[in-house]
Amino acid sequence: MRLFVKGPNPINDSIVIWKERCREQRAACIYGKRDIMGNISGNKLYVVMYHYTRDLAHSRYPGIKGLDLPLFREQIGFLSQRFHIVTMEEAILAANGQYKLPENALLLTFDDGYIDHFTYAMPILEEEGVQGSFFIPAKTFAEHCLLDVNKLHYILAGAVPQKLLADVFERMDYYRGKEFDFPGNKELWEQYGTKVGRFDSGEVLFVKYMLQTVLPEALRKRISSDLFEKYVGVPEEQLAYELYMTEEQIRTMKRHGMYIGIHGYDHYWLGNLPEEQMRADIDKALAVMDGFIDSKSWVMNYPYGNYNDQVIEYIKNRGCCLGFTTEVRVAVLDRDSRYRLPRLDCNDFPPKSENYMRIQAEEIKEDQ
Ligand SMILES: [Zn+2]
Repeated sequence: MRLFVKGPNPINDSIVIWKERCREQRAACIYGKRDIMGNISGNKLYVVMYHYTRDLAHSRYPGIKGLDLPLFREQIGFLSQRFHIVTMEEAILAANGQYKLPENALLLTFDDGYIDHFTYAMPILEEEGVQGSFFIPAKTFAEHCLLDVNKLHYILAGAVPQKLLADVFERMDYYRGKEFDFPGNKELWEQYGTKVGRFDSGEVLFVKYMLQTVLPEALRKRISSDLFEKYVGVPEEQLAYELYMTEEQIRTMKRHGMYIGIHGYDHYWLGNLPEEQMRADIDKALAVMDGFIDSKSWVMNYPYGNYNDQVIEYIKNRGCCLGFTTEVRVAVLDRDSRYRLPRLDCNDFPPKSENYMRIQAEEIKEDQ
């Protein structure tokens, strides 16, 4: 089986060594290692999700929520010891029924096209001899525009949540009924303010809803830019150039055996868009990512884990073979829809937590 991209490349030798290590790991896993919970079937797949992976203490924005580099390094060491890290190509074959995943199979996924992935993640993955799958919103390198999702991350890194909430309410009051029409603050708070995120407080989650999907798009952009200027204070374009990988870096990743997948063009909540706009976003992403993917068999990672039946129908027709969500479970390829595969967060694994054990145990209980 061909796991990695072929073609003229100066690192063929290291890929051969890498493939050999993968084979050894697989053999050790099948014949030697015990299943962690004692009863994991062959086609179970742990999918781990990463976002920022950087040296936070030495970064310009240490408040950004990410996995700190020493912890990332430790985690990859832990995962490659305790699990069998598989490639996306193997996951696709397993979903097609052409390959049986080893016990404790685990896939590493990285969202949003951050330069962190090139600078910090890829070298560590390569040293460990494992593959990562990188899902890149095409706009990041095609236009060097700061995505709304990142604008908000940087605002959150610099603001106190209660103060930020007050700022957002104030601006919503200011614009309501002038150029934009949307429900009152109290009504929206009742609908979105009572939700609790896995890693976010109620205030933070509310601000995310308002500025990522609920308010009209033009207003979201205006408020985000205003708050970005207030709390971050650097030109957006400059930060975009610092934050995302370039096209050449993405090509280098692919040459090093990493897998590249689709994460939309504009990083929209695809399931909340009018169908025409949803299709246009996917078409645009596929056109820009053409050189990085196999147009007849590519992998989707829904921004914000958001999708609906129309999204699935459309990507299926456009050649998508797997889709990853943010539902928190262990995937079972024999049972789950291939377009609705769940993932765990890197915070669910050591050294951050032992949540993966609890999640696995709960699922076993439910199955019984
Ligand atoms: Zn994303």
